[in-house]
Amino acid sequence: MSETGGKTVALIRGNAEYQEASLKPTPEIMKLWKKVHNDMRTEFGEAIFRSWLKPLTLQAFYHGTMEVSVPTRFMRDWIQNHYAERILAMCTVNSEDIRRLQIVVVQNSMVDDYADQKNETDSKANQNKKIDVSAISSPLDARFTFDTFVVGKPNALAHAAARRVVESVSIPFNPLFIYGGVGLGKTHLMHAIAHAIEDQWPEKTVMYLSAEKFMYQFVKALRSDAAMAFKEQFRSVDVLMIDDIQFIAGKESTQEEFFHTFNALVDQNKQIIISADKAPSDLTGVDERLRSRLAWGLVADIHPTTYELRLGILQAKRAQLNADVPDSVLEFLALKVTSNVRELEGALNRIVAHADVTKSPISLESTQEVLQDLLRAHDRRITIDEIQRKVAEHYNLRMTDMHSARRARNVARPRQVAMYLAKQLTARSLPEIGRKFGGRDHTTVMHAVRKVEELMNEDAAIAQDVDVIRRALTG
Ligand code: ADP
Ligand code: MG
Repeated sequence: MSETGGKTVALIRGNAEYQEASLKPTPEIMKLWKKVHNDMRTEFGEAIFRSWLKPLTLQAFYHGTMEVSVPTRFMRDWIQNHYAERILAMCTVNSEDIRRLQIVVVQNSMVDDYADQKNETDSKANQNKKIDVSAISSPLDARFTFDTFVVGKPNALAHAAARRVVESVSIPFNPLFIYGGVGLGKTHLMHAIAHAIEDQWPEKTVMYLSAEKFMYQFVKALRSDAAMAFKEQFRSVDVLMIDDIQFIAGKESTQEEFFHTFNALVDQNKQIIISADKAPSDLTGVDERLRSRLAWGLVADIHPTTYELRLGILQAKRAQLNADVPDSVLEFLALKVTSNVRELEGALNRIVAHADVTKSPISLESTQEVLQDLLRAHDRRITIDEIQRKVAEHYNLRMTDMHSARRARNVARPRQVAMYLAKQLTARSLPEIGRKFGGRDHTTVMHAVRKVEELMNEDAAIAQDVDVIRRALTG
């Protein structure tokens, strides 16, 4: 035990050496640490300082080693990987006596000894009394398994990562963060992981739910004074899966609660799996601390489908439905219905149902007839090229101005308008849009979108410009 900032702390790993006077830092070292700790604010910025570095506490000094502590293993690993080297450099410029920086985990003794040794007994205890999470967990769709998931280039990484999580005895990466557009198979993959873990590791408690449900449960618990029970329930699972995390954007107290749950589980070495419609860094309205933690494990994106994958999915679906669908029809659908897998499945279901009801065989002609409305909508799809052309025309610019690096206001503003419209009218992601505008970064696109939104609110002329161009494109 040692006194730090008025709080009694206990050492993880049974490190009783701090009691020895020879390890106590000298007043000079203490003073130096105080200065270095203070300087971190300017060196790393206020946000990083507050999220990560503020809790760093000097514990001991011996043989040139400066030993500092943090409250959790998660923080220790993060600081070790991201900031330790620079912190050491900041120490050594102040004193040549310091040669090494050791970061250890020291926990508040009030929190009990929930540390390394306890993790082991914890998992043993869990085996005996498996917690009932069914009241909170969402039901799994029996059709969403690995067997029915068709793997292709666009989803290969996410699929491989999902399998790793199931098959690894230890945790391969934490969290696994899967993201991609609507209807591309995120929920399917999440359910597949949950099914497979339940099959292979029946002793493990898996909690799967949407972020929306997480918030709902949290708010309900707060109202009924059951916040502690809520916390315990979430902290007691072996695998926590949250679908569509983008939902918590802008919901601060839910984020805060999720953040703590997340840290507690990572500290206990429990697997977390998250899905979202965008990358962690693009989750606007989500706290920076949380975003950086979400990106800490493996981030796997599911890309829009390719023709090959669509055809593969259709073939698998045809086999499942046991329906008589000619190859030419599958090829036609794979070519025409490009938006996402959900629509693709919907199209196939429709023509199969139609044939069933009318008792007529499926052909290319009947397909075109049944899917008339859907196909027309797809034919009218707007491209980024078209948007750029229309915007350039409207502002009397050349197409090349859309890609150029010129920053003059009369060029830059229309370019931002075009980026905004590309985001609004196409299903392209921010990085994809950036690439179409002379290889710009996705943050540039995001900035453009926000800027134009802002300008449209303030300036009627711009709002009208955008409206005219939009109507020319969609009309
Ligand atoms: P998301 O959660 O990304 O919006 P879903 O997982 O709900 O998408 O997928 C939409 C539909 O498409 C589901 O019926 C799912 O089974 C199907 N699907 C998506 N990707 C695949 C795939 N690779 N193989 C088979 N079916 C898929
Ligand atoms: Mg989903």
